Amino acid sequence: MKKFIYSKGKFVESDSTGIDIFSQSIHYGFGVFEGMRSYITDHGIKIFKAKEHFERLLKSCEKIGIPFKADIYDLIRASYHLLELNKLDNAYIRPIVTTGRGMDLKVNDTAEITIIAWEWDFYNGNKLLSTCISPHRRPSPTTSPINAKITGNYINSIIATTDAVNRGFDDAIQLDERGYVAETPGANLFCEKDGIIYTPAVSDYILPGITRNTIIKIAHSLEIEVVEKNISPEEFIDADSAFLCSTAAEVVGIGSVDNIPFRLNFEDSVGATLQRAYKKLVLDKLSYKVII
Ligand code: PMP
Repeated sequence: MKKFIYSKGKFVESDSTGIDIFSQSIHYGFGVFEGMRSYITDHGIKIFKAKEHFERLLKSCEKIGIPFKADIYDLIRASYHLLELNKLDNAYIRPIVTTGRGMDLKVNDTAEITIIAWEWDFYNGNKLLSTCISPHRRPSPTTSPINAKITGNYINSIIATTDAVNRGFDDAIQLDERGYVAETPGANLFCEKDGIIYTPAVSDYILPGITRNTIIKIAHSLEIEVVEKNISPEEFIDADSAFLCSTAAEVVGIGSVDNIPFRLNFEDSVGATLQRAYKKLVLDKLSYKVII
């Protein structure tokens, strides 16, 4: 079957587009991207929080001066059309904004969006993640914005993930430059203590995750207390339970940090309640429509 991508305002066969090797984005990691998911819901195929993702995409561009302007609803329509062309339902959708030709270090004055999509039926089952506190901290926000989804930021994510996996862990917990728990290389973090859930406060030090925000709203609707604050690694390890969340992974329980297991069985945790509620929400179950 032919595979299509959305490039330069048109839907073209994926192998008919070459990546411009002269793009600043290739050489310097100077681009911006998003990751969205579509689900077969009770009301047809839905891209979860598409508007929020494209808003963040435009904001990320603005933060580093990429001159990309587009109508969000055109981009949403293009994403749905791309799913149709590729006959995708449960899918992962990746818009990426790249800058034009130019080897100099001043931001290029042209930019374009490409959207690709592929099947995604991620299921982690009940496996809990073994994690480690990574020796690789998140970059300082004084170097470049960490709260934007910039391609170059993921050099740090790849280094931290590879280090963790090479040492036998599933994932890494990264600290910010001040030494507080920040996020994993590709997800936000929560921990639970005495029935209250804690998460690093939105700041320059973390990506403001769309899943994180959704989880907080679900928690409020279920009258679960959420505290956003600076969390030390010691506090995190001493929590009753913990989980990560992202568009791609949804909500996944963390079993241990540096081989120290959490004391609460994840199935009995607030995280597990939120995990089930999130799944219902993305599948557009009626009872959850009212909440958010
Ligand atoms: N932090 C980082 C570093 C990420 O790459 C992601 C995934 N986009 C997240 C957090 C979670 O963001 P979201 O819930 O919007 O997918």
